[in-house]
Amino acid sequence: MGRVYNFSAGPAVLPEEVLKEAAAEMLDYNGSGMSVMEMSHRSKVFDEIIKTAEQDLRDLMNIPDNYKVLFLQGGASQQFAMIPMNLMKNKKAAYIVTGQWAKKAYQEAKKYGDAVEVASSADKTFSYIPDCSDLDIPEDADYVYICENNTIYGTKFKELPNTKGKTLVADVSSCFLSEPVDVTKYGVIYGGVQKNVGPAGMVIVIIREDLITEDVLPGTPTMLTYKTHADADSLYNTPPCYNIYICGKVFKWLKKMGGLEKMKEINEKKAKILYDFLDESKLFKGTVVPKDRSLMNVPFVTGNEELDAKFVKEAKAAGFENLKGHRTVGGMRASIYNAMPIEGVEKLVEFMKKFEAENM
Ligand SMILES: *Cc1c(COP(=O)(O)O)cnc(C)c1O
Repeated sequence: MGRVYNFSAGPAVLPEEVLKEAAAEMLDYNGSGMSVMEMSHRSKVFDEIIKTAEQDLRDLMNIPDNYKVLFLQGGASQQFAMIPMNLMKNKKAAYIVTGQWAKKAYQEAKKYGDAVEVASSADKTFSYIPDCSDLDIPEDADYVYICENNTIYGTKFKELPNTKGKTLVADVSSCFLSEPVDVTKYGVIYGGVQKNVGPAGMVIVIIREDLITEDVLPGTPTMLTYKTHADADSLYNTPPCYNIYICGKVFKWLKKMGGLEKMKEINEKKAKILYDFLDESKLFKGTVVPKDRSLMNVPFVTGNEELDAKFVKEAKAAGFENLKGHRTVGGMRASIYNAMPIEGVEKLVEFMKKFEAENM
């Protein structure tokens, strides 16, 4: 069997070119006589891998010099604790709850201080982004937290919240490198890489230097202190070496594709094909308010659970994998990350049209 069109929300599709390169280098990376999985993280050859990866990410995102790039373990979820432990100097922070990942981060932060929910879209099953232009943000809040792209519900902040001067912290796991961002607007940007960049288990944290201090909550483990990793250039202990290597290859691929401006253009084109069809379809409906639609995760329903299940099953048989919606919301979800080719989306829409004709 060949490769399928994989619409998984994460771990998700990676560029075929990157996988082929990694396969070719599996037994002997660049004349070292060993795989990247087998080499010392202190070796010269690995040093080159991690430094190049960081520089390519800096180039892609235009990351200013006063921001550190950290390659850490524990996935995105580890950051739910690491952020309050390191940033809650006043023991207060404002959370905007736009889905399950934001809610998990908010609940975790409550363990460490006064996490205040300043906005939420729970009233309509997280199908929109609340107006964040004039929120009641506590004077002494250490930061304002958002999940910028809501993987499960398919919403995206098209405009960043007005933080009233407070530091903005953003989980960008499912929109990482999908379009250009102005890094200077954030104090911390972080993302688990398995959505749009690489293999699961690693998180990339981009953090402004003044936020990296020794003044962390009492009892914060050494491994969960940003300063530990910043001082050691992500080599305090053994880093997720193979993940860094694959991410580095994806950064090179993105550069070759034309960078993030170009990726945005392609991603907008891909998403439009699917949303335009959902808007005209008599059977399928998108579940998100049009102005807040994500370019990466597209949830939709038929309105009939049995028909949803039938669709997922027939789609799978036709080579379209992982279209089932998140277990907590049902329906369908097509995740169309950077590595999903435009033909994948075109063919999916063709298949949806055929299914609609057969089932109306
Ligand atoms: C998947 C996801 C997470 C959790 O990532 P892990 O690496 O499994 O911890 C957190 N936030 C968002 C937005 C996600 O999509």
